[in-house]
Amino acid sequence: MKTKDYKPKYPLIWNKKDFSIKIFCSIPNIATGILLKAGDALSLIDPGDGILRDLNKELNPSEILSITDIFISHGHHDHIGGVWSLLTYFKVMNKKSDLNIYFPKGCIEIVSIYKAFRNVYSGTVSYNVLLKEIDNEKKYAIRKMKVKPFFVDHSELASDGVTKTKIPSLGFKFFYNGLSICYGGDTALCDSLLKMTKDSDLAIIEAGNKDDENDGIHLTLKEAIAIGSSAKEYFLVHVP
Ligand SMILES: [Zn+2]
Ligand SMILES: [Zn+2]
Repeated sequence: MKTKDYKPKYPLIWNKKDFSIKIFCSIPNIATGILLKAGDALSLIDPGDGILRDLNKELNPSEILSITDIFISHGHHDHIGGVWSLLTYFKVMNKKSDLNIYFPKGCIEIVSIYKAFRNVYSGTVSYNVLLKEIDNEKKYAIRKMKVKPFFVDHSELASDGVTKTKIPSLGFKFFYNGLSICYGGDTALCDSLLKMTKDSDLAIIEAGNKDDENDGIHLTLKEAIAIGSSAKEYFLVHVP
């Protein structure tokens, strides 16, 4: 299968034993947006631009306000573009419960958005934002889920189009009700992704490169299919 032949049809939905994923979209350089449900606990993964519009179609306001955890794989705008809107929506709607944002240590974008938000709205925010900077691969217990972050290999190109710089990047593996969902974020081929994807009930794997392109920043469709096939089921996302 060539990249030009494959286009995911969003939303992509997976649901087993009260554990579900809805990928509203995942388009390179535009936006990703993923809703994760474990029982009645709602979380977001990589809330890019448009996430509020998608949540508004999917949930009622009190359900949106019940979101307590946001998982950020890395700071590229297509993965975090909706964070400011969410923070502000929660303020306007008088959210009371804490909001935890999990993100890789060194992801300056999230820290900067948070600081700007505090700066603009200091003293008038009804809820706590707790920044959870991740600098190791320790498993967390988050509400009824277990979450295992893992480091992946993602870079960005400088404006010269040649110089590559590695950026802090994570994948997350979520466990609930005896099932597991592995989200690799944006990544080139790396051992941690292979290890964490294997035998997952669902893997969400990016295929951001064309087949003839191997830039060490994203996976080719061929690589993504090979990795995804080691899980019980998989979705390919972030396809150009
Ligand atoms: Zn991306
Ligand atoms: Zn990226």
